[in-house]
Amino acid sequence: IRAGWLDKNPPQGSYIYQKRWVKLDTDYLRYFDSEKDAYSKRLIPVSSISRVTSVGDQKFEVITNNRNFVFRAESDADRNEWIRTLQQIAEERKSKAPERTSMSLATDSATEPADKSGFLELRGFKHKLFVVVAGDKVFLYKNAEDYRLGIGITYIEMNVGNVKEVDRRGFDLTTPYRIFSFSADSEQEKEEWVEAMQQSIIEALSSSEVAERIWAVESNRSCADCGSPKPDWASINLCVVICKRCAGEHRGLGPGITKVRSLKMDRKVWTEELIKLFQQFGNAMANEFWAANVPPSEAIGPTSGSQERRRFLIAKYREGKYRHYHPLFGNQEELDRALCVAVTTSDLKETQALLFCGASVTCDTGDSECPTPLALAERSGQRLQMEFLLHNKTSELRGLPSALLCRAEFSRRWCTLQDGVLSYYENDRNTVPNGEIRVEEIVCLVNNPPHTHGIESTFEVYTGAERLYLFGLESPDSAREWLKSIAKSFVHPCAEELLVLDFERFGRLHYKGGLTLERAQEGWFVLVGSTLHVCSEDGQRQEPLQLRKLQELCAWPAFLGVVDTQWGLGGAWPPAEASCAGRTLYIQGERKLDFLGWVHAIQKAAGSSGDTLSEQQLTESDVPLLVDRCIDYITQCGLTSEGIYRKSGQNSKTTSLLEVLQRDARRVRLKEGEHHVDDVANTLKRFFRDLGDGLFTQQWAPDWLWATALEDEEAKVSEYRQLLGALPAVNRATLKALINHLFRVQCFSGENQMNTHNLAIVFGPTLFQTDGKDYKAGRVVEDLINHYVEIFNVNDQEMKKQQDEIMAIMKMREASSSGMQQAGDFICTVYLEEKKTETEQHVKIPATMTAEELTFEILDRRKIVMKEKDYWSCFEVNEREEAERPLHYSEKVL
Ligand SMILES: [Zn+2]
Repeated sequence: IRAGWLDKNPPQGSYIYQKRWVKLDTDYLRYFDSEKDAYSKRLIPVSSISRVTSVGDQKFEVITNNRNFVFRAESDADRNEWIRTLQQIAEERKSKAPERTSMSLATDSATEPADKSGFLELRGFKHKLFVVVAGDKVFLYKNAEDYRLGIGITYIEMNVGNVKEVDRRGFDLTTPYRIFSFSADSEQEKEEWVEAMQQSIIEALSSSEVAERIWAVESNRSCADCGSPKPDWASINLCVVICKRCAGEHRGLGPGITKVRSLKMDRKVWTEELIKLFQQFGNAMANEFWAANVPPSEAIGPTSGSQERRRFLIAKYREGKYRHYHPLFGNQEELDRALCVAVTTSDLKETQALLFCGASVTCDTGDSECPTPLALAERSGQRLQMEFLLHNKTSELRGLPSALLCRAEFSRRWCTLQDGVLSYYENDRNTVPNGEIRVEEIVCLVNNPPHTHGIESTFEVYTGAERLYLFGLESPDSAREWLKSIAKSFVHPCAEELLVLDFERFGRLHYKGGLTLERAQEGWFVLVGSTLHVCSEDGQRQEPLQLRKLQELCAWPAFLGVVDTQWGLGGAWPPAEASCAGRTLYIQGERKLDFLGWVHAIQKAAGSSGDTLSEQQLTESDVPLLVDRCIDYITQCGLTSEGIYRKSGQNSKTTSLLEVLQRDARRVRLKEGEHHVDDVANTLKRFFRDLGDGLFTQQWAPDWLWATALEDEEAKVSEYRQLLGALPAVNRATLKALINHLFRVQCFSGENQMNTHNLAIVFGPTLFQTDGKDYKAGRVVEDLINHYVEIFNVNDQEMKKQQDEIMAIMKMREASSSGMQQAGDFICTVYLEEKKTETEQHVKIPATMTAEELTFEILDRRKIVMKEKDYWSCFEVNEREEAERPLHYSEKVL
């Protein structure tokens, strides 16, 4: 940038200025004895220059953090020009790395990160020099202190170097300009130096073509992890460009997490596609994900030590501690599905987020032509997506962080819980703990299922600072004991009664519910099986939430909406005073880590967990939602369909419908036109046929069959009633719902040709899971339908209500067949203000009808004129009137 003769101020004790040839480039200010010299007498890194000022006639001073250098120019003009150029260069350097200048004051970033450093004798010098091999250069310093300050003698560019061993301790570094004869302290030392310098030559000679292209992107010009300039290494699966020192630590994480390659030496891996991927992706996009939340106290810089670096990289890439969580985090199926979509677009950022939040590279796409995401990307012509997937094919999954510790990583610690501090020690004799968790910081405790982490019992402790600690124990009992003790030490006294529960998950969360929708309150949440217990901060224990009976469960990135017949979901609609007290629950995601764990756990607990009746999602009246959905649909659309339940429907449609219903019946809406009644009927039969333990249970089924032999009709009915009482509640409720349904179906045998006997032939073997060779099973069903009212204690009121409903349905069907109706209409009973026969209206509700339209329709029918300040709204009320929820005016009623 600038070179010229200057007088350098004399060393101490001398008055004679020395004439020096001074050279400035972007990195260093150096001075030489003459302009022909290749090696300087002094080098000052530009990055260490803090100020340049003029001092008296023609002189100027270069001020570094620790030392000042005075030069004298030939004229004021020359002097001013030097000052101007130096200031500009130093300024530019600062602005390029603003976050590091502040750090450099403290830790001298001027120092080159060393591959090898130490003292060597150099012929021609009285004292040993401090020699540093760094990248493609060898630096000479007067002493270690100068190295720390960054003020060196000279550097040797190794692209012109050659190393030769001379004797036991000596070796020569030969360059075209000079031979440096070094001598080490020992033979072994010498060998290490020779090796390091040879490595440096290789690096200097390697091609920088790839590096130059990748550096063309601004963010790739400094290390993605520590910010060092000109990083010439990369992790090809994480798509980050990193410095040599970080690369060394990356290697320690293992290739399952990061695949380290040199930009300059590993020429073969750098295909055109991979270079393009790095140009598009680059450090900026990678860090938007991986370093979204790095606390300043944990960040590293170019001078960070090896341990610090390692700790940071483990947290960043292995634990994913600072990452930007994808909203679907924790939901494997959804993640995989989203990945299959993302790879067909150019959205690499989305793919990155999905992949490193747990989506599986090898997930099943459900597309037989393109069974893997890679094949999908190929079909869509997304070359960069393919490249990205390819390099991450063998990467370890990064799902829930808790899954990241494996057995080998457990180390034995002595733990104590005392005075509100959970401490862990190297052993029971140590007095200084390795770490401490203050119990008031704990926000969640999780008791993992056995063998989750390769050891018998593990539990997790989450803190408010988004940290997760995993503890392992030999027995489930001791794990439970620890959990209870820890929970007891931090739970609010008002919620202490929750501690008697054998919980899987215990913690505090913010939620809104009931009358306090405006204000979130803190509550204590306990998950036991599929039951969620909640205790508010003022000590009020809510009715436990049966998660399998939820009406709806909606997970958003920031909160989880739980709709229960008990709770009801609020939403955009305003909370209705008093009427919905305690029936609305939003769980808010204030912290990511434990909240996502809760969402995942609640979603899981709210789904069907097996193939027996009680493991299904249930309605309020204990009937599997799946059964309820099918019966409802047949009642609305299939009562008059000829051969209903006898005709078999399409096998493939039945299979897929049963599958989606079993996965999450809550989300399935059966619609006329979309689902054929025979397919739905067949689905219901298939469900009972495959049901674990059967509707009548293995234990009691023989007794039911035996009862058919009783000749006295009255004795038989009484036997059935007794057997009914012996069934588990869910089986009893389900059997009642089904027989009630079949009772209605046979009422229409004139149209559907399915009388009681025909239904019994179909349902007997299905419900008893027999081959149907004898009629015993059919007999039971026939008897149950015939004696429906007595066996199930159905009263007149219930019968009348059902008949009215059926009448309404029939009326609607008639109208429908005359072409006046839209497919998909349902008949609903709507009450005005109170549930009384006089206020009852049967309304046909099209799929598109909103709550507002329904409200107006009812008001219109009742000839109610809206007055000013009248507010009407539509509520959904469950059968037993225990719960209701207001509908938003624009919400669809169905
Ligand atoms: Zn680095």
